[in-house]
Formats: sequence, structure tokens, C-alpha cells
Amino acid sequence: MTKENPSGGIPGRGFPRRVYPARVIGVGLGFIGVAGVFVSAGAPPWAWLLLILNGFVWPHIAFLSARHAADPSRAERRNLMIDALAGGFWVALMQFNMLPSALLLAMLSMDNMALGGMRLFLRGLLAHLTGIATGVLLAGWAPAPVTNAREILFCLPFLLIYPQLVGNITFQLAQRLDAEKRSLLQRTRIDALTGLWNRGYWQERALAELSRSQRQGAPAVLVIADIDHFKNINDHFGHGVGDQVLRRLSALLQKEVRISDFLCRYGGEEFAMVLPDTDNTGALAVIERLRETIMRCDLGPDYPGRVTVSFGLAQLGPAIADLPAWIEAADTALYQAKQAGRNRSVVYGSQDPVSSAG
Ligand code: GH3
Ligand code: MG
Ligand code: MG
Repeated sequence: MTKENPSGGIPGRGFPRRVYPARVIGVGLGFIGVAGVFVSAGAPPWAWLLLILNGFVWPHIAFLSARHAADPSRAERRNLMIDALAGGFWVALMQFNMLPSALLLAMLSMDNMALGGMRLFLRGLLAHLTGIATGVLLAGWAPAPVTNAREILFCLPFLLIYPQLVGNITFQLAQRLDAEKRSLLQRTRIDALTGLWNRGYWQERALAELSRSQRQGAPAVLVIADIDHFKNINDHFGHGVGDQVLRRLSALLQKEVRISDFLCRYGGEEFAMVLPDTDNTGALAVIERLRETIMRCDLGPDYPGRVTVSFGLAQLGPAIADLPAWIEAADTALYQAKQAGRNRSVVYGSQDPVSSAG
């Protein structure tokens, strides 16, 4: 991941690598535009030599120096200012030939604005002026702003290709940022040990499900599950094995329930889920199958025994007004399951509280 530089807004370490190809292409295309004017106006050999160095040697020096700099962002900002300075210099050496000059300054300013905002843009303008002043001192002041047809032709590659390149880089950057944002958001919703949804996110979803079911008059059952005598596993085999059992059981639960049932690690060795469009009878059948599967499952390799789980189920009804009340109801049923001997499922409010036992 890149890091932001508070002073300039330019991303850090990987940045020189991303700028490198853009500079190679951009400076190469700029070379063609300036060379068009040099060809028609005639330029001294030293000017050609400098132009060739700028066009074909500078991008590599810029990359290497930024790459090995202690602060790559800072080095890149310096490189951008050298680009801006050189741009101003070529404007003066082209004697302000209108199209290539405007093109050079516009593209360089776009880079500065895109990479460092208004601050870098303004610094770039100063660098342009410095470059122009240096060029005028070296080449003299004899403005010839009119651009002829051949010079226009030489400008076309830069004009047509470079904006697409910058647009593409911006698009890729936006996509990467979006992907990073989504993955960060995802991580805040996931329980680190088990990989299940965490309680906070589950509550958001459970609330949405509660509202939907109430609005549509559809049945829904909230289930809370708690591993029986889990403390014994920790005590006899150690916390590491306890964690392993939790992870394995979570994977098993995830495999067994529907995605729409929205399972989470509610806390410690407790799990919660909401079964939408399901009533108590349907939910009990599902949960009993699940409970029996768990009983048979090997949660090793370091834990030789089996675990059992108790379940509390509560169907949404007129007596349940909000999410805390719904959770409370399922919790009460779970408590009854524990009291009745564990490894069983209890439906909240049923006449016969112990609905099923293994
Ligand atoms: P019961 O049948 O009444 O539920 O008994 P229990 O031992 O499962 O219940 P209790 O609430 O007394 O103990 C739960 C244990 O779960 C205690 C705690 O150390 C353990 N536990 C909670 N979170 C974790 C965890 O992330 N990893 C491990 N290894 N143990 C955990
Ligand atoms: Mg517990
Ligand atoms: Mg327990």
C-alpha cells in the first residue's frame, strides 16, 4: 500500500515506478514537438544535444534518483520541478512557438496538478518562468509565435497520446483505491480468529432483516448458539487448541448454513444467525440437523474429542419490538437449553421448552 505524504499529497515508495513509464513516454512525445520547431527554425547543436539528453536520458536518471532516495515522494516532487523547469526552457528556445509551447506547459501543469494539487501546480508555474528566463538568457529574445503546418504535425503525437496515458493512470489509481477501500471495510466486518462476520456487522444486518420481515410480514428466526463446556477444552488442551476448535467449528457452520442465514461469531464461543423467511418449525429442523452434524464432526487434529452445541431460537413476533428484544428472546431459549442439560435446541416461548435433544 502507498503512504500519503502530508506536505505534497504524492504517494510514497511505489510512486517512482509508476511515474517512470509515463515520464519516458511523455518526455519522448514532448521531444518530437520541440524537435519539429528546431527542424524548421534551425537550432544550434548544443540545443539539440540538450534536447536529446532531456528526451532520452533524463527519465532514467529521474527514476533512479527517486527510487534510491530516502524520501521518494520528495525526490519525485523535485523531478517534477525539473520537468517544469525544462519545459519553460524549451518554450524560450522555441521562441514561444505557440502550439508546442502551450502544449508543453499545459501537459506539465496537468501532471503537477494531478500529482500535487494547487500547491505543486503553482510551484510548477514558478519553475516554468525560471526555465523561460534561463532560455531567453541563453538563446536570446526573438519571439516567433506562429506555428506552421509541419510543426503542428509534430505536436500531434503528444497532443493525442499523452492525455489518454494520464487518463488511464488516473483510472487505474482510482480503481486501486476503491479496491483498497473495499478490502479495508471488509476487514472491519470480519472476526479475526474465525473469519466469520463479527458482531458489529451482524447486528447491522440483523436489524435490516428485522425491519424487512416486519414490513413484509415474513417470518424470520434468530438463533444463538453456544459451545457446551468449552472452558474444559481450554483447561485440558490449552488455549491454542481451543482456538483451533473454534476455527474448525466456524468453518463447519459456515459450510452448513445458507449464505442468506448470515452467520457471525457473536463473542467468545457463541455464534448468532438470522434465518430469513423461515418459521420456528423450519428453523428447528435446520438447526437440529446442524447440531447432529456438529456432534459427529472431528475438530482436530490436536483435539481428540467432539464438541456439542446448545441452540436458542426465537421467531419474530408481535411481542418482539426491536433487535435487543429479539436477541434477548433467543438468549432466554439458549439459557433454557443449557439448564435442560445442553446439546439441544430450544424454541423461545414454546409450550415444551426443550424441543429436541441428542
Ligand atoms: P457452557 O456449556 O455453560 O457454555 O460452558 P462453557 O465452559 O462453554 O462456558 P463459559 O462461558 O463458562 O466459558 C466459555 C469459555 O470460552 C471461557 C473462555 O476462556 C473461552 N473462550 C472465549 N473466547 C475464546 C477464544 O477466542 N479462544 C479460546 N481458546 N477460548 C475462548
Ligand atoms: Mg458462552
Ligand atoms: Mg459455552
